[in-house]
Amino acid sequence: MIAEVIVDVPAKQTDRPFDYVIPQSLETVIQIGMRVVVPFGPRRIQGFVIGIKPQSTLNKLKKIIEPLDLTPVLSESLISLGNWLSEETLSYRISAYQAMLPAALKAKYQKKLQVSTESKHLLPQTLQDLFTNQDSILWEEAKETGYLSLLQQEVTKGHILIIYEVKDKIKKKKRLAIRSALSTEELKAYQSSLTPRAQKQHDVIKYFIANNDWIFLTDLTATLQISNAVVKELVKKEVLEESEREIYRDPYENRYFARTEPLLLTNEQQEAIDPIHDRIAKSLHEVFLLYGVTGSGKTEVYLQSIQKVLERGQEAICLVPEISLTPQMVHRFKGRFGNQVAVMHSGLSAGEKYDEWRKVQRGEVKVVVGARSAVFAPFENLGLIIIDEEHETSYKQEENPKYHAKDVAIKRGKQGSFPVILGSATPSLESFARAKKGVYTLLSLPKRMNNQDLPQVDIVDMREELRSGNRSMFSSSLLEKLQLRLEKKEQTVLFLNKRGYSSFVMCRDCGYVVNCPNCDISLTYHRHQQQMKCHYCGYEDHVPSVCPECQSDHIRYFGTGTQKVEEELHKVLPEARVIRMDVDTTSKKGSHERLLNEFQKGHADILLGTQMIAKGLDFPNITLVGVLSADTMLHLPDFRSSEKTFQLLTQVSGRAGRHQLPGEVVIQTYSPEHYSIELAAEQNYDQFYEREMMIRKGLKYPPFYFITLITVSHEQLMKALDVTEKITTFLTSRLTKSAICLGPVASPIPRINNRYRYQCLIKYKREPELNQSLKKILDQYQQEVTSTSLKISVDVNPFILM
Ligand code: ADP
Ligand code: ZN
Ligand code: ZN
Repeated sequence: MIAEVIVDVPAKQTDRPFDYVIPQSLETVIQIGMRVVVPFGPRRIQGFVIGIKPQSTLNKLKKIIEPLDLTPVLSESLISLGNWLSEETLSYRISAYQAMLPAALKAKYQKKLQVSTESKHLLPQTLQDLFTNQDSILWEEAKETGYLSLLQQEVTKGHILIIYEVKDKIKKKKRLAIRSALSTEELKAYQSSLTPRAQKQHDVIKYFIANNDWIFLTDLTATLQISNAVVKELVKKEVLEESEREIYRDPYENRYFARTEPLLLTNEQQEAIDPIHDRIAKSLHEVFLLYGVTGSGKTEVYLQSIQKVLERGQEAICLVPEISLTPQMVHRFKGRFGNQVAVMHSGLSAGEKYDEWRKVQRGEVKVVVGARSAVFAPFENLGLIIIDEEHETSYKQEENPKYHAKDVAIKRGKQGSFPVILGSATPSLESFARAKKGVYTLLSLPKRMNNQDLPQVDIVDMREELRSGNRSMFSSSLLEKLQLRLEKKEQTVLFLNKRGYSSFVMCRDCGYVVNCPNCDISLTYHRHQQQMKCHYCGYEDHVPSVCPECQSDHIRYFGTGTQKVEEELHKVLPEARVIRMDVDTTSKKGSHERLLNEFQKGHADILLGTQMIAKGLDFPNITLVGVLSADTMLHLPDFRSSEKTFQLLTQVSGRAGRHQLPGEVVIQTYSPEHYSIELAAEQNYDQFYEREMMIRKGLKYPPFYFITLITVSHEQLMKALDVTEKITTFLTSRLTKSAICLGPVASPIPRINNRYRYQCLIKYKREPELNQSLKKILDQYQQEVTSTSLKISVDVNPFILM
């Protein structure tokens, strides 16, 4: 037999299958989707088997050396998805396959075969002998035994597990876990024998009547708010048993999630869910855009759609942005579907991620909730993919392969003939436009569940503040409201955009921002040259010494950071307890969750943070939200800056007054009349959409035009410029007349790590040849890219234009 193998050499010449002979001894072992080791030139390298055939047209083939897997890591449908991905994103097939797999499957990890005590006796005798004095053996040893085929059968049956451990890492500490020693019936009998005064014991017994699994002692005591002594007492009475265990690495696995039942849907929800249920039942592909304000009951629609899918014996994926993958969110899914849910997010270690992935692969779970890459969850019978907060830019991967999870989801939906739901309170312009054209089906949930009023929004004109002599970063209105919250012991969220560091030039008296005359985008300030530049067309100018609008000399660059705000807060409100949440304070694993917990418990009055606090916060005691400067994002050199501002302000405002206490929002700005700020304050998406679409149309941006960005970088400025120029010329000659090729222009960040960066931005309607042309460019320069320091990046539909 012959295997077709994609080898792990990311290059144009090797971006195709190579034929290898499958040695007789491995004929029953090798399957499509497995990784293998093959000879390649003088080296031994890894590769993926993507096909098996009886013969090859070539002779003198080399042999596969050994398999790296005993079960396929990629299914045939994922292989075909990978091929599509590599086409779409102009990346090599090997990179596409690797992007779909958990990191633990890439090098640096030690592979072991492990057998549990319970299944040891189920193994055939030869293997029992192998595991006599050990629960696991190294893969290297296993290969030498000659029992690969036998081992494989046991892996398939689930008696033997393949585990990956980071090399040199000390073994995980085991922890004390508890479970019931009695049957449910016996527990119930024991419960009725307890005196009513033994309330704590009642709670414990009740827990174990509902859950017969192991739980870590610490989780049990935390969940039930009891002391260790209560549990130990029951262990002594042999009602419970204890054991040192390392059950799973999943941090959520052994928490107790109260089961929730589907809610009776409102009429609006019912109308939204009917067409979804219908397509699920008929196995039809369709993309739904579920447009509903926060609190309108979207998540309940997701949950009941997933339920429908599970009832049919299928599986579902729900993507949520990394930062809203909070314990609260996980709770809602685990509460409804219990252990059928796996959670995948970047806070997990490589081992934990692999554990979750393995649960999916082995069919132990039916639902995956996760960030971007969870869209590749290896389900074989998918019935639904949901993308919550579909407008989030974090769904776009910025490294190769530069894919967007939405495109992948829709591709999988087409492949597998099932619906895809995109949900948002502020859909991306692209999605909403598609829904209006009927490409997607629009479903709306216009009202908040509790019919609660949206919070009262107060736009503060910071120019006025300055005029009345207030030079601080807090307006008098915000400060007053902050003080009131301190007195009433209510909580405040203060929001500062991280990219507030990005500098633009603005007049502090009239709010005038210096824009590019050709592009309608603010010029970026360059401190070193004291210059302002447009990063789309290359226009540049000196910083004016007086404001061209009002002749004030208060015109200067603008930008501020969270740390500075915290210092200011301590000065003006020394008694306030502040929690600061930004990249610096949340870099440690679990710190994000810990800080939020502290805030929720009332250990602070003010939560100060960047966009990571914009989402998922749902605490009853937050009655004030302050946005320190709404403008910082507005003037980024990005055509999506108004859209992003609108989305963020809408979202931040939604944090206040979600429960009984009414909420207030203060938005400080130097451009109070800007439509994205005014309309966000009114939560008027529809009007924002109309306004913004007109602007995009005029400037030939998405959704009216597609864009592709090519960025070239090199240590020598002239080289970067020269290559970009050649690329631009080449493309211009091959594109239709309706396409626009803007370049070469220095990138918004013109030098990173001493490398100069130039770019070319292409705007187009329909260019069937574009992919081919881009490939030609990449091929043309491949030699130079591998042997010199030249780098060329192609981003189809970019979200970061820097
Ligand atoms: P969204 O996802 O749009 O923000 P949620 O699904 O979280 O909205 O719903 C907001 C609140 O309303 C939640 O507390 C949820 O439990 C509740 N809720 C949703 N649907 C219903 C329903 N049909 N009946 C009662 N409460 C509901
Ligand atoms: Zn001015
Ligand atoms: Zn310009």
